[in-house]
Amino acid sequence: MTVTRKLRMGLVGGGPGAFIGPVHRMAAELDGKIELVAGAFSQSPERSRAAGESFRIDPHRAYADYREMLEVERKRPDAIDFVVIATPNYLHLPVAAAALEAGFAVVSDKPATATYEEALALEQVVAKAGLPYALTHTYAGYALVREARNLCASGRLGEIRKIAVEYLQGWLSAPLERTGQKQAAWRSDPALNGPGGCIGDIGTHAFHLVEYVTGLHVTSLNATLRSVVVGRLLDDDCNAFLRLENGASGVLMVSQVAAGEGNGLRLRVYGEKGSIDWRQEDPNRLRVKWLDGLEEIRHAAGSYLSADARAVARLPGGHPEGFIEAFAVLYREFADALIAWGQGRPNPLPPTLPGIEAGVRGMRFIERAIASSRAESWVEF
Ligand code: NAD
Repeated sequence: MTVTRKLRMGLVGGGPGAFIGPVHRMAAELDGKIELVAGAFSQSPERSRAAGESFRIDPHRAYADYREMLEVERKRPDAIDFVVIATPNYLHLPVAAAALEAGFAVVSDKPATATYEEALALEQVVAKAGLPYALTHTYAGYALVREARNLCASGRLGEIRKIAVEYLQGWLSAPLERTGQKQAAWRSDPALNGPGGCIGDIGTHAFHLVEYVTGLHVTSLNATLRSVVVGRLLDDDCNAFLRLENGASGVLMVSQVAAGEGNGLRLRVYGEKGSIDWRQEDPNRLRVKWLDGLEEIRHAAGSYLSADARAVARLPGGHPEGFIEAFAVLYREFADALIAWGQGRPNPLPPTLPGIEAGVRGMRFIERAIASSRAESWVEF
């Protein structure tokens, strides 16, 4: 694969009114390594065409269906290099499998699939295809999340003892799905979303952040899932206790009925010697507190940060970076990995970029949390 041109991306989802598809497009193009050239942006051919127009791509490459996109693109001399999946969850496995089987690498939004069984099936497809597969757990792209991860790995916090992760949103406090609001409609439908509501939609991000930052696996959990809004078919509120492989304990609190909250993701990790505190709504500051010592506020562009964090900061201090830039970090790493793969390197994904393993663990987390809640007891992971 040549490295003198931009990588060509085909997007599935992201039609008019979609939330995350347009973010993928912006993030992918931010570093000048990737361009959107094709897509099946909607299940409606007209809306797919309309999205293609708004993205200023060749109208012939705004396809009516993702299968058509794969079929036509694989025969083009200037074919797409990879497929991005930004659809409701039930399509993640079929689109990813079809893309990989057609020879295209994949960037998928989370959760990896709709069910745990599907994730196991996808893991096999990825292994058989031997192609790069990345999962956009966006928060892994923030410079200060990389700093937090580095601090845990360096041992400076000492043995990790306690973790508190919360992800609080309020937008599903009312039965929005009954008004036709499309993001709420598919997320509340088990057939389109999968069996885990809030626990799948944002719980998987919180769970991923815990394992990503601490480098520790969750080994058992005790979760309580509730549907607070009357008539809602899936959970919209969840509390869980976690046990980690080194004996640390964790508390995970996620909700989409936390009235007034926007995107309140916060992670605190406590070690023997110090602790860290990071909030997604204030992502350019990381609080580090030392036992009997000073409290530090580390800034996203600080020259004192670890090399891992400095590698992904783009702007001088005081210039805020956020969600799109974090997303773009994942795309930059994916682009480099795809080029390396094209040059013959097997398994080129860097450890900082979530892949199929994170996808399977996320789906296992949903499945285990539901099982624990039903049994009202601890379950092994
Ligand atoms: P959305 O409803 O806003 O958008 C989904 C898009 O998929 C729509 O444009 C819809 O027309 C399109 N679509 C549906 N069926 C299709 C088909 N057969 N072919 C092509 N397109 C089709 O949903 P959203 O909020 O953008 O979520 C999409 C995915 O992204 C979900 O899996 C969600 O979990 C994930 N997500 C991730 C993040 C993150 O931070 N990484 C944030 C939000 C959503």
